[in-house]
Amino acid sequence: KELPSDPILENSRRQVFEACFSYVSPKETSKPELLHVSPEMIENLGLSQNDAKTEEFLKVFTGNKVLPDTKPFAMCYGGHQFGNWAGQLGDGRAINLFEVEHNHKNWALQLKGAGETPYSRRADGLAVLRSSIREYLCSEAMFHLGVPTTRALSLALSGDQVMRDVMYDGNPAYEKGAIVCRTAESFLRFGNYQIFAARQDLKNLKVLVDYTIKQHFSHLGAPSKEVYLKFFKEVVNRTLEMIIHWQRVGFVHGVMNTDNLSILGLTIDYGPYGWLEGYDFGWTPNTTDRQNKRYRYGNQPNIGLWNLLQLANAIYPLIEDAEPLEAILNQYKTDFETGRLDMIRSKLGLKIKADTDASFILELEDVLHLTETDMTIFFRNLADFKKNDSSKGLEIIYKAFYKPDEVVGNIEKKWNDWFVKYAERLQQETRSDKERKDTMNQVNPKYVLRNYMAQLAIDDANKGNYELIDELFTMLKKPYDEQPKFEKWYAKRPEWARHKVGCSM
Ligand code: AMP
Ligand code: MG
Ligand code: MG
Repeated sequence: KELPSDPILENSRRQVFEACFSYVSPKETSKPELLHVSPEMIENLGLSQNDAKTEEFLKVFTGNKVLPDTKPFAMCYGGHQFGNWAGQLGDGRAINLFEVEHNHKNWALQLKGAGETPYSRRADGLAVLRSSIREYLCSEAMFHLGVPTTRALSLALSGDQVMRDVMYDGNPAYEKGAIVCRTAESFLRFGNYQIFAARQDLKNLKVLVDYTIKQHFSHLGAPSKEVYLKFFKEVVNRTLEMIIHWQRVGFVHGVMNTDNLSILGLTIDYGPYGWLEGYDFGWTPNTTDRQNKRYRYGNQPNIGLWNLLQLANAIYPLIEDAEPLEAILNQYKTDFETGRLDMIRSKLGLKIKADTDASFILELEDVLHLTETDMTIFFRNLADFKKNDSSKGLEIIYKAFYKPDEVVGNIEKKWNDWFVKYAERLQQETRSDKERKDTMNQVNPKYVLRNYMAQLAIDDANKGNYELIDELFTMLKKPYDEQPKFEKWYAKRPEWARHKVGCSM
């Protein structure tokens, strides 16, 4: 209520000025059907599992009923896409329903794929089952991995067909329409601030920044120039922390445009994301980014900084002093280096900080790149290494090699050399092999949502079988535990899936 709204009350596409959002109506769908509901999210919202079985729940979370005294809306934001200013973007296919406060937590609930809004531009405001399954499973998986993220309450079919592709023969290809209800403390993005700055609407820029601080950063104090800087500093820290988590688990976002960076440092907008299989700094899941690879795994930290610079530019008019903003951005670089080293130390089970660690880690990254080596399996199996028996190193991690035939001669020698150094380095530590293993297994997941796994769930779902969605959902709740009944998912990507990655739309 504190934020300015668009006076026009219809869903038609338009440029919206001097407003943070527009009221919209979700689209009615022909045959809504819930496919999955997150039992944890139900509880977080203060609902009972039976509430989720009601007709009302189905209708509300597919956009077929608007609860009394609530007014659904779509937010206005802009953004830099692939490094270029793109002007107004906005919630083109997301509709905010309402917010719930429970157990001192605030949850905004938003439907993705519930029809067009003023921000839909040339697209339809809809989502397909494929991308919805990917978002639903991955956001919950990330949460359980300990990565800051938006979450998901439900996954539903709309019952409508959605056109997404045109076949070679010129006929349209249809897919099942779907709606995910996603949740977060707030969905505000860098782009929400950028749009006002770009339009030189400083009045509303200030209104939104002040609102953000009051609602979500109230521990920083009442808005003032000093508090704006503290606010920026905290956004920088949270963004950095999120990206270090991504690097730790091998998550590649794929579209780190400024409209996809959350002001709360949450992973948001699960589109063409992917998980590292081979440990490859140059890998990107985004097929539209294969040329420049702007959003490749190894570049995520730099892009985070680039995006934060755009945010700094956007809020600069409220601060009118570039120097402290620059200092905060420079600190990001130092903090990233320190944070990255600590993160990899933890993956290697190193508690003590040795001066030689940076070069030791570089050597590991070199050997990891010699032949395609599965990141998840490598780090998980490494926990079985014994500090007094470096000769077993290769055997312990052998399962991680995609092409074991290549691990001979010089490559084999380099690996063995590294294991000797690892054993030496572990002599500086005081922990036992068992203690080290236990701590490593808390940061090196055993189960992640490999690209092909989501694809298998999608293929089944397109045939009307939704069991795999539930199986993966259940497994991914405990990514760090040994789960014998899911052991088959602790495996490298099968060869048939080599060039198959998910897609965003
Ligand atoms: P993304 O690349 O997913 O961050 O999307 C960029 C912009 O396109 C955002 O403003 C989205 O809301 C919008 N958008 C993406 N897909 C659709 C769609 N199917 N219908 C309407 N708008 C969309
Ligand atoms: Mg987006
Ligand atoms: Mg998207």
